[in-house]
Amino acid sequence: MAITHNLGFPRIGVQRELKKSVEAYWKGELDEAGLRSAGKALRQKNWQLQQEAGIQLIPVGDFAYYDQMLNMTTLLGAAPRRFGYTDAALSLSQYFTLARGDKSNFAMEMTKWFDTNYHYLVPEFLNTTEFRLSSEWLFDEVLEAQALGINAKPVLIGPLTYLYLGKEKHAGLRRLNLLPRLIPVYQQILARLKTLGAEWVQIDEPVLALDLPQEWVDALAPAYEALTASAPKILLATYFDSVEEHAARLKNLPVAGLHIDLVRAPQQAESFLRDFPADKILSAGIVDGRNIWRCNIAASLHTLGPLHEALGEQLWIAPSCSLLHVPVDLAQETRLDPTIINWMSFATQKLAEVSTLARGLAHGKEAIAPQLAQANAALESRVYSPLVHNRAVRQRTAALTAKDAQRISPFTERIARQHARFNLPAFPTTTIGSFPQTADIRAVRAGYKQGRISHSEYQAAMRAEILHAVRKQEELGLDVLVHGEAERNDMVEYFGEQLQGFAFTEYGWVQSYGSRCVKPPIIYGDAARPRPMTVEWAQYAQSLTGKPMKGMLTGPITILQWSFVRNDIPRADTALQIALAIRDEVQNLEQSGIAIIQIDEAALREGLPLKQSDRPFYLDWAVRAFRVCASGVRDDTQIHTHMCYSEFNDILPAIAAMDADVITIETSRSDMELLEAFRKFSYPNDIGPGVYDIHSPRVPGTEEMLRLMRKALAVIPAQRLWINPDCGLKTRGWPEVEAALRNMVAVARQLRSSAAI
Ligand code: GLN
Ligand code: ZN
Repeated sequence: MAITHNLGFPRIGVQRELKKSVEAYWKGELDEAGLRSAGKALRQKNWQLQQEAGIQLIPVGDFAYYDQMLNMTTLLGAAPRRFGYTDAALSLSQYFTLARGDKSNFAMEMTKWFDTNYHYLVPEFLNTTEFRLSSEWLFDEVLEAQALGINAKPVLIGPLTYLYLGKEKHAGLRRLNLLPRLIPVYQQILARLKTLGAEWVQIDEPVLALDLPQEWVDALAPAYEALTASAPKILLATYFDSVEEHAARLKNLPVAGLHIDLVRAPQQAESFLRDFPADKILSAGIVDGRNIWRCNIAASLHTLGPLHEALGEQLWIAPSCSLLHVPVDLAQETRLDPTIINWMSFATQKLAEVSTLARGLAHGKEAIAPQLAQANAALESRVYSPLVHNRAVRQRTAALTAKDAQRISPFTERIARQHARFNLPAFPTTTIGSFPQTADIRAVRAGYKQGRISHSEYQAAMRAEILHAVRKQEELGLDVLVHGEAERNDMVEYFGEQLQGFAFTEYGWVQSYGSRCVKPPIIYGDAARPRPMTVEWAQYAQSLTGKPMKGMLTGPITILQWSFVRNDIPRADTALQIALAIRDEVQNLEQSGIAIIQIDEAALREGLPLKQSDRPFYLDWAVRAFRVCASGVRDDTQIHTHMCYSEFNDILPAIAAMDADVITIETSRSDMELLEAFRKFSYPNDIGPGVYDIHSPRVPGTEEMLRLMRKALAVIPAQRLWINPDCGLKTRGWPEVEAALRNMVAVARQLRSSAAI
């Protein structure tokens, strides 16, 4: 029978036990021994659960108290030297300091793991970086698993991926040149694993699914030739996209097995199958590790059939990638509609699906008749369910024309009308939307959700917050005001909860970074907006002031990106459905007297496909979705958008194509570096480059903000510049927000009176 294995399991625990223990340790409520025993208990539970699900080779080494890349950094003795940790092995508290920083060191940088919402800690490399086997954690965990009778398959992040995902901190250093220093340490690690009796080791090289520069591709074969000598059998794992272009090379590598992702890239099976070496294993990643839908057992068997026929026992069955990216166990969900529950599968269920597939291949469909019948019934109920299909929505998206994605007049005419209507001063000041989410606000929201606070009490409390925020902004002298978003716990959840076609789990947590977990909404059906979602709050806020009140919405791509998305229709279709819902909201806001509306697209960039060749298509439908939201309004209604990242040099034309009247972006942390791109590409509309970093409680002085604005003025004409912070202020406290905004307004006044305009 085909061997079943798993690439990685979520480490947080069904009840987020890891989060709770780690945070208790940080607060000093749990000592190191306590945290370590909580970690040990979790590992044991996860291994046994996988074993019981019928998984034969179980990943060990996928557990981490904070992050798997950080674990690799400690194993390789590559903690950034700036922390000054000279001892070979790091203590647990030093490990956390790398991740979180302390008084004298800023934390290691964090960034997204490929196109997932998981963040890893970025390795830092110097010319003098040396690697040295510096930790026992991996070997300890292998021994721990073996003692429990677990058939352990240690997992490591591969040397190419480790280097590629890191950053050079010395000019002129090319991190690929560090490979010869890195290989001996990997050799040592592999030799130790072999001594421990590990038959297989999984080495992850997901960078192979990117557009990897040729010199990196060329480094692959020599690296793995060097690694195999005294190693256990190596299973080289790739995932998240196709590695078809490297198929010939991969088949020739001196490794014992290859894992490929057949969910994201089913078409690559054929290239691998052709002349597949008789002495290698091909691991088929067939159960979706990135989404929560139940596996179509019949269709998967159909895909696996030819592979099984050709490869026999050389074929292994697995999820497409580590299950880190899905919640732990569906059995916990009791409040969701049982029909919808029946369509889904979380990590635990996915492993059962893997073993069902293996049995089906080995013994025929009869052997898995009940599972097959259940999967088919679930699938069928989903295909025909009235919960999924909304005719009106389908008809509306089908009837959309180019005109629906086009404002009435071009920007130059619109902005003239908007200037006449708002009569704002030069360098208008505004904020990104949210004001401090105080403990009081959170308590009221929680109380209302749990039914302890009545609707009218809740409404009164939120209105009081809005009033407070409006008065503060007037006092500070801001030009375009916001209501403050007190009623929102999260910019996606708030809308998802009011849209049809969205479901929310109770325990569907996924690790985002460190101890932080998110519970993404599940989009299961056609998206529709039964009634206005934000109009009452915005209208109330506008009634309090003579200044323009900005309506605040989340855009379709951000909603899509931070949810588990349907797999029965293209993402682009779901985006368009959400876009229509937001368009209706935009129009209702306009009708109720809101003249400026911001549609946040915080996640537009992170939705970019991994491969360059897939990007134009994505940007095309993403931009269209935004334009559909924004184009149903009059010329003198001003559309803003906001994006909180500073790396979009490469997508500036797409951002310009969104045609928002005003865009606010993050720039302060990168010292307006982004604006360099504006030298080369002349962005046509208004722009508010963030002048201060909201991630820190530090109050920025007028001088530094003035300096940033002068930098901006060098590339953007004064009449198109706005002044605003980098992002929303919800994580800050009022005193620092007031001080910072007071300075920001002072900067605007200074600029207005200077010769700059
Ligand atoms: N309007 C949101 C806020 O101010 C935007 C948040 C974001 O971009 N992440 O909080
Ligand atoms: Zn932001």
